[in-house]
Formats: sequence, C-alpha cells, structure tokens
Amino acid sequence: MAKPVLLTVDDDREVLRAIERDLRRKYGSDYRVLRAGSGQEALEIVRELKIRNNSIALFLIDQRMPGMSGVEFLAEAITLFPDAKRVLLTAYADTDAAIAAINEAGINHYLLKPWDPPEENLYPVLDELLEDWEAAFPSQFEGIRVLGNRWSPTSHSIKDFLARNHVPYLWLDIETAASDSEVRSLVELLDEEETRSLPIVILPNGVRLRQPSLAELAEHAGLKTRATEAFYDLAIVGGGPAGLAAAVYGASEGLRTVMIEREAPGGQAGMSSRIENYLGFPSGLTGADLARRAVVQARRFGVEIISAEATEVRIDGPYRFLKLANGAELSCHALLVATGVQWRKLDAPGVERLTGAGIYYGAAMTEAMSTKDEDVYVVGGANSAGQAAMYFSRYARRVVMLVRGSSLAASMSQYLINQLKATPNIQIEFNTSVVEAHGDDHLEAISIYCAETNAVNKVPANSLFIMIGAAPNTDWLANIVERDELGFIYSGPQLTRDGKRPNGWKLDREPGLLETNVPGIFVVGDVRHGSVKRVASGVGEGSVAISFVHQYLSKVV
Ligand SMILES: Cc1cc2nc3c(=O)[nH]c(=O)nc-3n(C[C@H](O)[C@H](O)[C@H](O)COP(=O)(O)OP(=O)(O)OC[C@H]3O[C@@H](n4cnc5c(N)ncnc54)[C@H](O)[C@@H]3O)c2cc1C
Repeated sequence: MAKPVLLTVDDDREVLRAIERDLRRKYGSDYRVLRAGSGQEALEIVRELKIRNNSIALFLIDQRMPGMSGVEFLAEAITLFPDAKRVLLTAYADTDAAIAAINEAGINHYLLKPWDPPEENLYPVLDELLEDWEAAFPSQFEGIRVLGNRWSPTSHSIKDFLARNHVPYLWLDIETAASDSEVRSLVELLDEEETRSLPIVILPNGVRLRQPSLAELAEHAGLKTRATEAFYDLAIVGGGPAGLAAAVYGASEGLRTVMIEREAPGGQAGMSSRIENYLGFPSGLTGADLARRAVVQARRFGVEIISAEATEVRIDGPYRFLKLANGAELSCHALLVATGVQWRKLDAPGVERLTGAGIYYGAAMTEAMSTKDEDVYVVGGANSAGQAAMYFSRYARRVVMLVRGSSLAASMSQYLINQLKATPNIQIEFNTSVVEAHGDDHLEAISIYCAETNAVNKVPANSLFIMIGAAPNTDWLANIVERDELGFIYSGPQLTRDGKRPNGWKLDREPGLLETNVPGIFVVGDVRHGSVKRVASGVGEGSVAISFVHQYLSKVV
C-alpha cells in the first residue's frame, strides 16, 4: 500500500525546505512528504494523487502566498480529500485572519512561524492530528479502477476479463456520480476527451487507459502476454479444466509446459456459479474457485501461462509452431488443443446490437450486483442456465427462466431442478423463446413467444442472460486437423475409417487415443468430437493425454 501523503505548501523556498526536512525526519518512515511552492502547484499534486487513489493525511499550508492564499487552497483541496487534517502556517500578524478561517476551511490548527524547536512546537500538534486521522482513516482501495457506464459492452468485457483473471478492481459507475462523491470527484478530474471515451481504466500508478483492448489490459494488469522461451516440450491452447489438468500433469512430469489462454483460466467452468458434482467437493465450489486453485497448482509446477489468443498452427518436421494474435510465435514438440466451446448466439432482432448492454452470454456474474431488485431473464434449460438462475435469485427480485422445451428433465440434473423448484423468486416458463430485444442504448424490453398459445408478449427487461448451447471455435485449425461438420475435432479411433489410417499419416502406429490426424497434436475436453461435456471428463482427458504426449515425445526426440 502506498504511504499516505503529508503535503506542505509555502512560497518561501527556504521555509519550504525547512518544513519538508522536519516532516521527513519525524514522519518519513510512515508517510510520503510532498511539497509545493504555490497553491496552484499544490492543487495539481492533489488532483494527481486523487486520480491515483492515494490518500492525503495532512495539509500543512502557508496562509500568505501570492495568487492563492492557504485558506483558498484548502477550500478547494478538501473537496477531494475531505478527511485530511489541515494545519495553517501563519506569521504572528495573521493570527486573526487564521482564526477567522478556521470555520471557513475547517482548519484543525494554526501554527506560528517559526516553529523551532519542532519537538516542542510542531511534532506534538501533528502527532495528535495524525493519530486521529489514522484512527478514522477508511482503508483505501489501491488496485485498478474502472470508470464506465453499466450499459457499455466494453465496460462489461473489461470487468469480466479482470474478474475472471482474478485481478482485483473497483467498478465505478458514472451514472452514480450524483449520489457517490468518489465517482463525482473522479469524473471532475478527467478531461473532456476522457469522459467522452469511457470506459477508462485507471491503474494504481495513475496511468489511464481509454477503452483498452483486452490484450492491452492484460499487459497493463500484469498478466503475461508473451512466452519467455522460444521452444517448449508441450504447448496447450485453452485454459479450461481440460487444458489446466494437462498443464498440471505435464509440468509435474517434467515437461517444459506453456499454456495459452485468450480470456481467463477456468474456461466455461470458471463461469459456473456452483459446480456441485465435481468429485471431492461435497458442498460444491464455484468455477472461479476451481480455476484459481488449478492455476496456483499449475504455476507451482512451473507452467507458464500466457494471456493471448492462438491464431495459427504451422508444422515444420517435428516442430509445431504456434502464432499468437499479439504477433508472438512459439514452438513446441507436442501441441494440445483444449479450446472448449463458446456460447451459441441467439438469432433474434436486437440481440446482437444490445449484447453487452443488458444482454449477456453465459452467467456474466460480474453483472449480478447490478441486477439487484430487478427482474432477470435467463434463456436456456440446461445445467448452466439452472445454475445461473440460482445465482441471480440471490440478487434479483425475480428470475424468469425461458425454456424452449416443455420440461427440464432431459436437459438438467435433478438436483438443480429440485433447487429451482424450491426457490420462491424463480419462475420457469416452458415452451417459450425470445423473439426480439428492444432498447436504444441498452436493453429495455423483450418479446417472448409462447409455442403453446402462439402469442407474443412484450415485457420490460433490463437483463437477459443467454445459455442456449455452445459450439467449438476451431476455424483457425481448419487446414491442420480433421473436424466434424460442427467443428469438433476428431481423435484416435475416430480417424480410422474402413480400416484406413487418416490421410497423410506416415507413422507405423494408429493415432493415439486423444491424438488428432497430425502426430503430436492432441485434443481434449469439450472441443473433442464425441466428448462428454463435463468438468470431470475434461480434467480426466487432460490428465490422460499427458501419457500419450510422453509416448510421442519418446519417439520424436
Ligand atoms: C455456466 C456453466 C456451468 C457448468 N456447470 C457444470 C457443472 O456443474 N458440472 C460439470 O461437470 N460441468 C459443468 N459445465 C460444463 C463444463 O464447464 C465444461 O464441460 C468444461 O468447462 C469443459 O472444459 P474444457 O477445458 O474442455 O473447455 P472450456 O471450459 O470451454 O475452456 C476452453 C478455454 O479455451 C480458451 N480458448 C479458446 N480458443 C482459444 C484460442 N484460440 N487461444 C487461446 N485460448 C482459447 C477459452 O477462452 C476457454 O477458456 C458448465 C458449463 C457452464 C458454461
């Protein structure tokens, strides 16, 4: 945590140096002592400290300064740091003015110049004030702050990215400026251009990023975006349960392992509000918890985790080259694809335009607080939709599940169906689908079609969470590996048709169980053709694949 600041201001250079020296000597180990030669200069410092979210414990200000008096300065400065203690330095002749100013600028004390010896005339006063300040000091959040609009898709993706990567941040909604003095004072400090280009991400060192891309954000948030080595034994694309398990097993068995993840480790599971059927966690755990634990475990074994998107694979003899969206390239002997699936889009007018502005794919847990006391609509009838409904029911006034089928039995686990039924503010509407989304800059209403009555009903809605199945995103691998018509990747025995090995397969063995049609490229988890779409099966495949990787490496090197 940055030390709180003691700011002293005086236009007399010698006096300024002397007071700075005395402050540093006594308080330098606990406070940062800053000085300024005028009220204007000091206001600049104060504004910068506010933007950086630093705290000021004390102002020690000369009263008689050209341009701006001490009291005038304080009257402005305390609007930004209302809790800071204020001491005015006056000459003997100014004491009446100083006393009069005590009410005006809420001055805690005035000190006569000169203050020598400080042990008698300065420190006892300041000690007392600083003790009071410390006792009342509200601990300040010092991480990344995101200032934006609740309905902005970019704000949503920034919050989601930070949350899922476990980067602490503070969300400041510009719409609360009227009621939240913290937001208001920050908005006042930004220039016009900045307020027009929200969201703005303010880093702890004061750097401000306007509408940053996720890659830019990753770089500034301290995530690793480039590999440290040029070559690895094993490169894994995708950091969901399957990729993470492969990373842990690979690195723990001595393979130099890199894992590339474009959003956040945890994958779909990381978005789950409660996984209740994963072995060994009888009361369930959140996907975020599972992801965090797995990341710690992977790092402990030395896995390098890169925040980037893999966009291309090139094969050169025994080497597999992986190109990343940020322009970097790395090579490996064995490549493991664990890219899972992404949400299928809902095709209805208005949905694409309002995505991120009230419409979200997945449970979008970062939005839960904003749904407080509102009605939330969840589209889908599988476990993911059921978990989301349970999660939002803790915040929202009412959660309405819109299910296309006439029952949940075929698509959802019984334990979840029981939980939904037992939750009074969850309502399930069967035979329904969303046919249109309405709103200018954010979602305001949805039209719901009921297949039973053939009626379309338009209802007010601010939050719609869509979970209607998922599809793999493997087009970037189209020329490399064999895929089914939906894009899922074939592996092992699936590749041998009519007793024939895959085209171009030159080895005198069949493709291994989780191996693709390219030797040394493996596939695990949801992206694999025929996989069981569950956390445990992804973890199982990721772990098992490592033994096939070893077999492959034993021949290749
Ligand atoms: C909300 C929800 C709740 C669920 N609840 C449960 C449950 O309770 N129990 C259960 O067993 N299962 C549950 N599932 C299913 C389970 O989460 C998935 O089966 C599992 O996450 C699949 O793991 P995976 O590693 O194969 O893929 P994913 O989890 O999909 O991970 C793939 C990762 O690859 C990354 N990626 C994709 N392309 C690239 C690229 N080109 N470059 C870099 N990275 C890339 C993605 O960003 C993603 O992080 C749930 C799923 C959801 C969505």
